[in-house]
This record gives sequence, C-alpha cells and structure tokens, in this order.
Amino acid sequence: MLSRIAARNPGFSRVLIATLCGLLIAANLLIWQALTNAEKQQAMSRLQLETQALALQLEARFDSQASSLRRLAARWPYHHDNYQQWLLDVERLLEDVGNYQAIEWLDANYRMQWIEPLAGNEAVVGFTYPLDHPNYPFLERVRQSGHPQLSDNFELQQGGPGLAYYVPVYREVDGESRFDGFLLAIFRVEVLLEDLLRDLAEERLSLVFYDQRGEFFSRQRSDALALDWAVESPVTLGDNRGFILRSQPTLQLKQETTTDLPAMILAAGLLASISLCLVLWLALLSAQRSSELKQSNHSLQREIVRRQATEDRMQQQSARLKLILDLTDHSHDALFIIGLEPQELIYMNRACWQTLGYSQKELDGILSISPEDIMPDYRSWSELLLQQVESKGNAIYQQHARHRNGELIPMEISVSYMQRYGRDHLICVGRNNSEQLAATHRLEALSNQDGLTGLFNRRYFDQTLTSEWRRMRRSSEPIGLLMLDVDHFKPFNDRLGHQAGDEALKQLAGALRASLLREGDCACRYGGEEFAVILPGADLAQCERVAAHLHQAVAELKISHPLEGIEFLTISIGAASLVPDAGKQPSDLIQVADRMLYLAKSSGRNRTCSDDQPIT
Ligand code: GH3
Ligand code: MG
Ligand code: MG
Repeated sequence: MLSRIAARNPGFSRVLIATLCGLLIAANLLIWQALTNAEKQQAMSRLQLETQALALQLEARFDSQASSLRRLAARWPYHHDNYQQWLLDVERLLEDVGNYQAIEWLDANYRMQWIEPLAGNEAVVGFTYPLDHPNYPFLERVRQSGHPQLSDNFELQQGGPGLAYYVPVYREVDGESRFDGFLLAIFRVEVLLEDLLRDLAEERLSLVFYDQRGEFFSRQRSDALALDWAVESPVTLGDNRGFILRSQPTLQLKQETTTDLPAMILAAGLLASISLCLVLWLALLSAQRSSELKQSNHSLQREIVRRQATEDRMQQQSARLKLILDLTDHSHDALFIIGLEPQELIYMNRACWQTLGYSQKELDGILSISPEDIMPDYRSWSELLLQQVESKGNAIYQQHARHRNGELIPMEISVSYMQRYGRDHLICVGRNNSEQLAATHRLEALSNQDGLTGLFNRRYFDQTLTSEWRRMRRSSEPIGLLMLDVDHFKPFNDRLGHQAGDEALKQLAGALRASLLREGDCACRYGGEEFAVILPGADLAQCERVAAHLHQAVAELKISHPLEGIEFLTISIGAASLVPDAGKQPSDLIQVADRMLYLAKSSGRNRTCSDDQPIT
C-alpha cells in the first residue's frame, strides 16, 4: 500500500526520505555533542580535583618549609643578640631547606641587618625598604597582624621574581614585647615552585601560577589542550590566599580521561541512519521500477496486439500485392518502379526482361552496373526524371532500349510521380512503340508528299524553305531555288487528255528526283504543272548547273508534244540564289526565282534565266 503511494509520488517520497536522513544525522550529532560535553565535564571535574589535591600538597610542602623559619623566629628572643648562634641556626636551616635564596633579618625600621648567605645576595646589604617598595604596605599589614605571611611575587633586589616570607619577631624589653623587625626568607619563584612540585611532577598537566600582580611561574607542556580545558584552584602559601594555580591537561591526560564512546556512538548512529535511509531509498526505487515494469508490460501487451493486427494487415496487403505483381507479370507493357534518394530500381515486371531477351537476374545485374548498356540515353533521361520529380508531374518519354541481340527497341515510357511512405517514386510503364512510330512516320511522309508525283508537296516546300533559310543564315551560306514550269502544257492537256497530262507530270517528277544527287537538295511540286527545287548552299552558278541537268533529263524523256512545231515536252526554269541576311525573307528568294521564270517564258521557253539579286 505504502509502496504504491510512494511509487505514485516519487518526488514527495524522495524529499521525505532526504528529510528523515537529515533529521537522523542531526539527532546523531546532537547525541554525540551531548556525550562529548558530558565526558568533558567529567574529565574537568576530575582535573579540578587533581588540581585541588596538587594545591593542597603544595600548601603542605610550603608550610613544612615555612615552619622551620617560624621555629627559628621563635628562638629570636633568646638569640637576637647572639649573631654566631643565629648564624649557626640559619646555616643549618639553609642546609635542610635548600630552596631559600636568603634568610634575612629586617629590623624594625625595615633595614636589612643580617643576610645569609651573603654570596649572591650582596645587592641587599644595607638595603632599607623604601616607602614606595611594593611590599611596604604588606610589611605594615604583617607587622600589625603579628602573623607570618608570604608576600605576592615581586622583583627581587638581587634580580628576578621572588617571594618573601615575613615572620615578625618580638622580644621582651622591660617586661614588654617589642617588635623587632622580621625574619624573612627570600625565595626565588622558580626554585621554590620547582622544589614544591618535585615528586608531584604532573607530566600530564601544564601549570601556571599567578597572583594579583600577574603570572609568575609557568610550566607548559607542548601538547597542552586549549584554554577552555583549564581549571583553577586557589593556593594559600604562608597565609597568603592570593595565589591561583591554573592547570591545563595535556592531550595524553585527555585521552586517559575521555573515551571513544561518543565517536563510536556517532559512527554507529550515522551508519544506522544512512542504512535506514538507503533501505528506504532502495525500497522506493524498487517500488518505482515495479510500477514502471507494470506499465511497460501493459504497453508491451498493447504493442503485441497492435503488431499482430499490423502483421495480419501486412499479410493481407502482401497477398494483394502478390496478386497485383502476378497480374503485372502478365502485362505486355514493361512496368518498373524507381525509388529516389537513393535512386534505385525497386521493381520490374516480367515484360521488362523478356522484352529485352534477358533473365531477371541478368537485367538486374546490367542495370546496376551500367544502365547505359540497356538505355543508351540513360544519363540525359535520368536528369529529365529528376526534373520531373521536382515538378511532381507526369510525363511521357520516347527512349530506346537495347535488346540482348543489339537491336534498339523504341520505347514509349509513361512516367508518373508518386510519393509513398515519405519517399519519392516514379512509376514507369514502357511499351514497344516501333509500329506506332512507323505508322506516324508513314503518315508524316504522306502529309508532306504530293499524291500524283510522289515529290514533296507545297506545304513541305514552305516548311523546308523556311528552315533551310534559317540554317543558311546561321552559316552565312547562299541558298538556291529553281522554279520550274512545263511549257505549253495546257494544249498538251487539252489535246491528249488530263490523264496523259498526269502521266507526263509523273515522268517529269521522276526525272527531277533522279537528277538531284546532293543530299539536302529537295524537289517539290509547287502547284499544277509547276515545280520547285531547293538547293541549300548553292550559289547561282551551281543553280544553273543543276538547271542544265534538269533540262537535259527532261529532254531525255522525249515526251512528244501534240502541238505542231514542238517536238518534245520542255520546261522553263527561273533560278535564284541569295545569301540570307537580316534584311531578307524566304519570299524574296521566291520572287526572284518567279521573276526569272517569267523571263525564261517570255524569252522563248525551254531555258533557264537566273539572278542572284533581290528585287529592290
Ligand atoms: P506556258 O508555256 O506559258 O506555261 O503555257 P501553258 O499552257 O503551260 O500555260 P499554263 O502554265 O497556264 O497552263 C497550265 C495548265 O496545266 C492548265 C492545266 O490544263 C494544266 N494542269 C495544271 N495542273 C494539272 C494537273 O494536275 N494535271 C493535268 N493533267 N494538267 C494540269
Ligand atoms: Mg503554269
Ligand atoms: Mg506552263
């Protein structure tokens, strides 16, 4: 249930787990800090006790040393005037207690009277405490109280910091106790404290002594902990309560007094917290995965059903396609499909390879390697096809395909553009149209031919003269024209009949055709019994030569003429030759030839008149 909710809200669940993890880590850190503080408190309490014990030991040691001086002072009433005795006592005392710097007697005027030993203390011989001496008020207080007391630290006359233990001495004078100054012991701070700390040497502590005048002794350990680990304990030395002993534990002491328990608890706690969060995270991931898996299973099943349906459809379609392909194989037309980008032959039916005398495999192979072997114009046709793809239109092309036996078969290929499945296709249907072409040629020839004579007709003459005129204009060559008219043909017809006239015209046409030997020369029936011969590239002299041949050929026909005085049928010829240029028309050439023909007639017939100048 929870895992389902978590899988549905993965973002929220992640935030929840992260928050839980953070809280657990924070709680662990708090516990660790509390444990560490408790341990520190415990360690500091122990340190406090140790410091107090040390202070008590110091106090006891000092007191045992100070008591010697007090005992000496107790004998003052008896020995004060016996210097020798006093000296002996002092020397004994100095021997017993080695850490005195000096033992002195300061008289009631605070003037130094005796000093022992003298060596090292010469500086205080005859020294009198001035009023501004830091110990002066203290001396006054001790004198008034009558109790021995240790001074605060001060700068010794001999140099260096020191402490002085002042013991007031009194003696009986006239039954009264009179203040007789002080017996005082001078201690060098280091010497005194090193001695007091001897045997108590706490290697695990850094120690500092200070009083109201400041720090005067310190014994530091290199691995001392920070000042927040320091504890202080008051020390009363020689009734002076103003000393403070500050001790700081060393790392070693800390290690002895503290344990790894807080760190271990922290580590274990962190490990447990992170593990818990990790387990939750993994559970979330697994819930998510299983939900995703379920979803993907659903979609997979849907996909399977969909694919099954698609497969069924595809099977139906492929059966349909096979049927269509079978049908196309029975077609006499060659059907092939070209796919573009990349350009490839996707399909061709049986008629394609059978028409060309190949097997399907052979034709496939040739087309893939050198399609020009099958279609000589393949490259230029291919470019046309690409243009057709761009215009997405349909077109019909006349192409040639080479049969296996080398024969070129004319093909009319109808090409339709089609786009399917995001790809351009060309559907091509080809048909051998050689018969149709032949018929077309035949028709074309007939449409240009004169039915009676078999020569080209007037229509063909007009077209050919125009096209040859243009061609000669491009090459700046002359074009020649002969206009022919049969002489006295009307009486020929009238006497011999129309049929004989037709027959004579046929014979004349045959003679004309046979006389034109140069390719491009073209004889046409211009109308009635008039003929025209186009001679591309011929100048006037060449025209005249051809005209002479024609006269000769007609003469050789020897067609008898029924009129008296006329033996055979003859022709008159008007010859013209012009170089076509921008200012001239084909009609100019006809006009000149016509004029020359008229001239030939009027000059007696059966002759040629010629000119190569246009009529101006
Ligand atoms: P000219 O020497 O001046 O040319 O005299 P001509 O008698 O030949 O006069 P013209 O050229 O005017 O005569 C044309 C005659 O040609 C008219 C017609 O009888 C004849 N003719 C025209 N076309 C045909 C045709 O197709 N068949 C036949 N049989 N005769 C035709
Ligand atoms: Mg005529
Ligand atoms: Mg005539």
